[in-house]
Amino acid sequence: MKVGVLALQGDVREHFGALADCGVEAIGVRRPSELDDVDALILPGGESTTIAQLAEIFGIFDPIQSRIKAGMPVYGSCAGMILLADRVLDAAATQRTFGGIDVTVRRNAFGRQVDSFETNVRVAHIEGDPIKAIFIRAPWVEEIGVGVEVLASVSAADGSVHPVAIRQGSLLATSFHPELTSDSRIHRYFVEEVCKAAAVIR
Ligand code: GLN
Repeated sequence: MKVGVLALQGDVREHFGALADCGVEAIGVRRPSELDDVDALILPGGESTTIAQLAEIFGIFDPIQSRIKAGMPVYGSCAGMILLADRVLDAAATQRTFGGIDVTVRRNAFGRQVDSFETNVRVAHIEGDPIKAIFIRAPWVEEIGVGVEVLASVSAADGSVHPVAIRQGSLLATSFHPELTSDSRIHRYFVEEVCKAAAVIR
């Protein structure tokens, strides 16, 4: 199996590190021909508006959307979660997403005073200690469609509880950045469970 990391903007290198830990071959994806070459894709953290714009400029926006519709496994962290959401609140005026997960996410949801924070979260299907979750101007999930599994939630400052890790079929997304830690269990879950399940369906 070969996993691509969309390498237009964002924390691409960190995802390579996590994938190396999982023992899978990984390549950077910028062009449609490189997308054709991978079985699964990671959308990194960064700036979702910039990543979407660059994807259009590189002619890879529509090909990614088509592969998602065709069942390619994709994991998105932070900006990547926004790019996988069908609907975005507080989006930039012309913001497009690849979509695929039937949720509404709110960009920069945790508010300015806590633009960045860390907390330990229990993530369903991940054994052992809670995951150290790093949130950087992170989105949360505000509405969730049927067929979307919530793997983890956190409480906001006002006490409201919001999903921060979700899965719908072959698509996985987290508001936080496991790639910025040395813990590769989320990537391993993606490679070993999400991708494997998609391969069986295909
Ligand atoms: N706020 C960013 C966005 O809207 C996401 C931040 C991140 O990926 N750390 O794309």
